[in-house]
Order: sequence, then structure tokens, then C-alpha cells
Amino acid sequence: AAIAPTDLEKLEVLGHGNGGTVYKVRHKRTSAIYALKVIHGDSDPMTRRQVRREMDILGRTDSPHVVQYHGFFEKPSGDVAIVMEYMDLGTLDTLLKKNGTFSEAQLATVARQVLNGLSYLHSHKIIHRDIKPSNLLVNRKMEVKIADFGVSKVMCRTLDACNSYVGTCAYMSPERFDPDRYGGNYNGYAGDIWSLGLTLFELYVGHFPFLPAGQRPDWATLMCSICFGDPPTLPEGASREFRSFIECCLKKESSERWTASQLLTHPFLRC
Ligand code: ADP
Ligand code: MG
Repeated sequence: AAIAPTDLEKLEVLGHGNGGTVYKVRHKRTSAIYALKVIHGDSDPMTRRQVRREMDILGRTDSPHVVQYHGFFEKPSGDVAIVMEYMDLGTLDTLLKKNGTFSEAQLATVARQVLNGLSYLHSHKIIHRDIKPSNLLVNRKMEVKIADFGVSKVMCRTLDACNSYVGTCAYMSPERFDPDRYGGNYNGYAGDIWSLGLTLFELYVGHFPFLPAGQRPDWATLMCSICFGDPPTLPEGASREFRSFIECCLKKESSERWTASQLLTHPFLRC
């Protein structure tokens, strides 16, 4: 049976985002726990468009590595809400802050799952465009799932340009800033791989790769180092396989970057 808004009882706030709030909720009859993302009726049209897009994408995906969708409501007040599966350990970002950096073995587990999710999405012509630690959810079973499809894109034509400035600037790939220079055969999917490379790098070293620890990102400096600098390299101590894996994700020229299905065969994932 479909879930109605009156069936759900709010338990706590799980996170605040761009235009809304995510709650932990309980289904009164079944006691099942869900996450509910609510966007208020008075939020700006762009946020409301994003939530519809997110609902549309979640409604058509079915993968163990994409957060599961359970329904959508719209209230007369204009509030819209998405019901999804509750991920009890939160995001990779909260885990990093709570438990410190990840080991290579843990990152291989994370990478394998996110790549399975991305390979699923890309084969369904969906580009996520905002892969980063706070959009990757984790549960107690150590399952990692991709969430937050607010700025994602469904490609209608293969050559559809999708170079708009959406997503979190820091994790954006060189070809999204400068497609003429780094975007040979530009199709958008490779941008998600770049963002995954930066995400794994960050979880390993504990801070955003292009910036020294503790420094807050500033848009202009970041864009310069992403476009004009060399891709970041892992510190001494990282294994040869991990180093090579990160290099394959962080090729500046998007056509040289490995795809999700290629990366799934990389030796790093065998450890
Ligand atoms: P936004 O577009 O506002 O960033 P997200 O979908 O990323 O929205 O959700 C914001 C935050 O809420 C996440 O970073 C996470 O902390 C929490 N959250 C979102 N979905 C879930 C979920 N299904 N289970 C647990 N926590 C979640
Ligand atoms: Mg988010």
C-alpha cells in the first residue's frame, strides 16, 4: 500500500540541505523507519524543480547502490516530500568526521559499491553530477548508496551538452570548467568519476585534496588548481594499486578517464 503523510511520525532531523530538511520518520502502523526529505512550499522555484527531478530519477532507478525510493507527496500548502529508505550510519562525510580517515580496504569496499551504482546510472543515461562524501549514504551493513539527485541529469541524446554549473564546485571535473581543453569526446559521465576520485582521496587523507588541511575552499583558487594544476597525488604510503586507481579517476582529459565499468576491473578492487 502507498504511504500517506498522515502515516508518518517525525522522529528527528537527519540533515539540512539546499532547500529542505531530511527527517527520520516512523510509519505508525508498521513501525518501519524511513527518511523523509521535505521541501517547503515557499522555497524557490529552482529548489522545487530539483526535488521533482530527484523524485523522477529515484522513481525510475532500482539498484542496491542507489537509495531506495518509497513514495512522493505533495500537500495543498505546496510542501513536497520524498520518502526513501533510512540509512542508519548517515553519510561518508559524517563517518569521516566521527571515525577519522578510511583504510584502503574500506575504500575499496566503498569504491566498488559506488562504481556499481554509477555503472547502473550511466547505463540508464543518468549523470549524478554531485558525487561527494555528503551525498553517499551508509548503513550498518556497510552498504553504500548514492543519494541526492537534485542536480542530476537524464541524457536524452548522447551528445547533449550538460556543462551547466550545477553540483558542488569543488568536486567538479576540469572539463566542466573548460570543455574545449579537457573535454575531448565530452559526454558528462566522466565527471562523476572525477568526483568519485576526489571523494576517495578525501576519505583517505581527511581533507579536500586540492586544499591544505583546514583551509576553506574559495571558488577562484580552486577552479585554477583544478584546471591548471596537476591532479592531486596520494601521499607516500598509499599502495601502488590505490595510487593507480586514483590516477585513473583523476585523468584531467575526460576521454582518458576510466569509465565505471572499466574501474570495476581495476586491481585495487581485488584487495
Ligand atoms: P540536499 O540536496 O539538501 O543536500 P540530501 O539528499 O543530500 O539533500 O540530504 C541532506 C542530508 O540529509 C544528507 O547529507 C544526510 O546527512 C541526510 N540524509 C539524506 N537522506 C538520508 C537517508 N535516506 N538516510 C539517512 N540520512 C539521510
Ligand atoms: Mg546533499
